[in-house]
Amino acid sequence: MRIAFIGPPGAGKSTQATRVARSLPFHNYSPRFSSEELVRAEMEAGTELGREMGGYHERGERVPDETILPLLLPRLRRSMGFMLDNFPATASQALALDEDREGRGVGGLSRVVCLEGPSDKELVERILGGRRTSKATGEVYHLVNDPPPRPEERLDPGPFLRRPDDTEEATRGHLEAYHREADALKGHYEERGLLTVVDAGRPIGEVTEAILGALGQPERPEFYAGARGRRST
Ligand code: ADP
Repeated sequence: MRIAFIGPPGAGKSTQATRVARSLPFHNYSPRFSSEELVRAEMEAGTELGREMGGYHERGERVPDETILPLLLPRLRRSMGFMLDNFPATASQALALDEDREGRGVGGLSRVVCLEGPSDKELVERILGGRRTSKATGEVYHLVNDPPPRPEERLDPGPFLRRPDDTEEATRGHLEAYHREADALKGHYEERGLLTVVDAGRPIGEVTEAILGALGQPERPEFYAGARGRRST
């Protein structure tokens, strides 16, 4: 499956892309590709590209297409299926992805899941009120809504860190950027019959169920429970 998760910051794109990937049956397994993680990896590696991208990111500005596309598209070419986390972020990125895949004669996206519902205020609160990202696995947690595993569970060694751009200023910048682009981006996929809007204001597990339902995939609690059964919210 080739799914893109779009929506404002804090809506749950990373959370759901990970959970959906983990819930799919093996033959449909599709890894998550996060544009944000690719940017962060470059920043941490201290490359010149990373420094340039980090500047945009921490100001809450979008990394320009000419920088992000060459980083992401080649990785997708090597993968039969994928869960795109926060990509495409604009209609022009959506067009570039379509063209890249059509030009190679490989399948385009199977579905685009747009997570929306919470107000901007709620989204900011979600992010500032406890988002933590595991340095070891890149997995996203929340101190209250989705707590990181305890050490004895041996699921994720962490450490569980706040991202440098999890500030009110940067989050508001990301929100504004999303609102500027959302209609055109959603319109691109609506025209192609690929868009599913899912209410992201519900508890995390309910949102996962709604997405799997929209993808025509029954939830597979036996897979899911193996890793994170205690987290059913
Ligand atoms: P995005 O990738 O869209 O920016 P995240 O997946 O990072 O969003 O989620 C933002 C924060 O909100 C994380 O700390 C996550 O654990 C938490 N979260 C995600 N979905 C929900 C939800 N449905 N209800 C409450 N908290 C959520």
